[in-house]
Amino acid sequence: MSGGDNLEFEIRPNPAPVSDAERNTLLANPGFGRIFTDHMVTIRYADGKGWYEPRVEARAPIPMDPASAVLHYAQEIFEGLKAYTLPDGGIAMFRPDANANRFAQSAQRMAMPQLPGETFLQSLREIITIDRDWLPPGDEGSLYLRPFAYASEVFLGVRPSMEYLYLVIASPVGPYFSGGVKPVSVWVTPDYTRAAPGGTGAAKCGGNYAAGLSAQAEAIENGCDQVVYLDAVERKYIDELGGMNVVFVLDDGTLVTPPLTGTILPGITRDSIIKLAERDGRKVEERPVSLEEWRSGATSGRIREAFACGTAAVITPIGAVKSADGEFVVADGGTGSVTTSLRKQLVDIQRGRASDPFGWVHRVL
Ligand SMILES: *Cc1c(COP(=O)(O)O)cnc(C)c1O
Repeated sequence: MSGGDNLEFEIRPNPAPVSDAERNTLLANPGFGRIFTDHMVTIRYADGKGWYEPRVEARAPIPMDPASAVLHYAQEIFEGLKAYTLPDGGIAMFRPDANANRFAQSAQRMAMPQLPGETFLQSLREIITIDRDWLPPGDEGSLYLRPFAYASEVFLGVRPSMEYLYLVIASPVGPYFSGGVKPVSVWVTPDYTRAAPGGTGAAKCGGNYAAGLSAQAEAIENGCDQVVYLDAVERKYIDELGGMNVVFVLDDGTLVTPPLTGTILPGITRDSIIKLAERDGRKVEERPVSLEEWRSGATSGRIREAFACGTAAVITPIGAVKSADGEFVVADGGTGSVTTSLRKQLVDIQRGRASDPFGWVHRVL
């Protein structure tokens, strides 16, 4: 299976799935990341043996030895993407090949073995197929897919683990913003940075999130919804939020977003927005933006809109920015027209309501 050939997954259906009635109750108001489907995918890895025992089985706790390497040294990576119901009742994933590539990049950074991209994609198709009844009804919800892998070797020495477990779990999710998209406020943390050059900022690993929790708590204490990080070297330039990339819209319609220099996570939503904007004939600049440029631009009107983007919320307008030196408002604190238009274009492609010129929509069923 190391060649990336199609694997034969062993399917072991859950002998006690959630009843139709209970599932429908859960799906009426799924929230985010609270409820889970009946199954999970597991694939094991051992040095010398490669990836083995690909399975679809009942979702259940995983027995774990207290000396499992991940519990001590955090060798772990994950992905996040969504499957949507199409207008004809079919089901599709959005750009799962990009998630497969990023998962491989994250694995490389964390000294983990790379799962072949075709196996990653097949694992997603397997769980969607067996748990297809878990897609929320209506045209706002989706099935959030969470592939991840961790060091499972029982060993306390500090070196890459020789054993790993890859899993996929799935969680039905409702609209991120119940009651419509609303702008968030962000706190520019003066105390914490997210990622330094040479660090793990471009890898999607749990450790980055653990390190960000204190900063997020600081944002809440300061009355803001989300934390935004400055670069670790000069403490001047906007990097990203804890789990979303940042994009600015100038008064001439140009999009500006921080460049991928290794300290920010290469978001697939970010990349999709760049491609959509360029198709619209907009100029897109990938360059550093300082907090000072943001502040003076928001005040002068040069920076008209700002938004955060990522799979969970797609596009979230940024209304207010608070830092140790004071507070300012972007675009009157509301949602700008470019933000609204890009969001609609992207969501319509994801849900199969608009044509898909880039081949982003991968039909599963
Ligand atoms: C996942 C993630 C994003 C957004 O990536 P998408 O592929 O658009 O979901 C942005 N920043 C961080 C830190 C992330 O972990």
